[in-house]
Amino acid sequence: MNRQRLRILGMAALLTVVVIPAAAQGNLDARIDSNIADWVGNYKFLHEHPELSAEEKETSALLAAQLKKVGYQVTDHFGQYQDGKTAYGVVAVLRNGNGPTLYVRTDMDALPVTENTGLSYASKVREKRPNGEVGVMHACGHDLHMTVFLGTAKMMAETKDKWSGTLVLIGQPAEEGYGGAEAMLRAGLYDKFPRPDYVIALHDSAALPAGTVGWHAGPLLAGADSVDITIRGFGGHGAMPNATKDPIVIGAELVVALQTIVSRESDPLTPTVVTVGSFHAGTKHNIIPDEAHLQLTVRTMTPAQRERVLASIKRMTDGIAEAAGIPAERAPIIEVSKTSVPATINDAALTPRVTASLEKALGKEHVWPGEPIMASEDFSLFAREDPKPPISMFWLGASDPEKWKEAKQKGARLPGPHSSEFAPLPEPAIRTGVKGMTTAATDLLQK
Ligand SMILES: [Zn+2]
Ligand SMILES: [Zn+2]
Repeated sequence: MNRQRLRILGMAALLTVVVIPAAAQGNLDARIDSNIADWVGNYKFLHEHPELSAEEKETSALLAAQLKKVGYQVTDHFGQYQDGKTAYGVVAVLRNGNGPTLYVRTDMDALPVTENTGLSYASKVREKRPNGEVGVMHACGHDLHMTVFLGTAKMMAETKDKWSGTLVLIGQPAEEGYGGAEAMLRAGLYDKFPRPDYVIALHDSAALPAGTVGWHAGPLLAGADSVDITIRGFGGHGAMPNATKDPIVIGAELVVALQTIVSRESDPLTPTVVTVGSFHAGTKHNIIPDEAHLQLTVRTMTPAQRERVLASIKRMTDGIAEAAGIPAERAPIIEVSKTSVPATINDAALTPRVTASLEKALGKEHVWPGEPIMASEDFSLFAREDPKPPISMFWLGASDPEKWKEAKQKGARLPGPHSSEFAPLPEPAIRTGVKGMTTAATDLLQK
């Protein structure tokens, strides 16, 4: 958007606020028009100032200040991580008479990715690491989520006559690992604040053009488990393998065997991934080491499938070690990470309600069937804590529609979340997000 247009929109905003606040009631489009320049500015500011997981000090302060300004009762620095560190969670409550309690959640953290978009508002933030510097970038688009969230907060506060109930807005830290949702839930989110009847959220998607959204009932994102395996053999001289139990050979057999969990044991219609992402053992050509270490990521779409896959990993690991002659007291050590997250399963009753609101707000032609993906989200955890509320997340199209069309014709994919080249188109993505989310929230809190 050029300066001229920004200035015109800015003037339009002033005129709307000064002259016709009451007349604009009910006209969400007019309200969005009068704010969109601010929101695009907000987005660019957030994009230029990313903070890594569990370090969202300034970002959460910005959210808290803006939410307070539009009338929410705000608690910040809410949540505690497993290591005792305080989380930068934000909880903003707007009570508006009788009715259900709706939670709307955004995430706030960025990623250690060096931005390569060439945008004028690209992040220049760098983080020092022991082996050099790494860039920090909102490569997952959580800046877009926050912008839509703040826009929705303002719209809901300005249209209190249209809904009744309690709106709770959650600014969640540390979505990208480190356990931000868990930190907020463990600190008593559902006890210290009104208990949710529904929890909704959105996530941007490069697979959809800006201006559209995507819906999907059922599993939307996979559950993710990290598994560490230590194979304990008996080391010795590389020239005398007969006097050892070689953990590298056991580990190599295991890597191949693990491939059969997906290819031979799993229902081909149930998406499952088992990846060995790290395999470390040994120090030198002629030494057989004592141990080998494997690190796996496991992605599953249902709790039952998760249990099956984890059980298969254990059975194969123990079995292959035993077959190699490893005694029971040196059996492999298998650890499943405590920060695992379950699959994000969009509630079967809530999702069609949200989708109907999106269709009403955006027109059916802009509401597309969305595809599940094997990435994961700790948004899933909001459904696990009592009162176990129904949850639903929709995809917010983020790609430039022209580039999207071009890529589609070529059968190519545009850079998406976690890519250094991921560049959402702020307008119309923000407009679409705010309009869709505000309408969904208003409908769920129907008078
Ligand atoms: Zn991400
Ligand atoms: Zn994300």
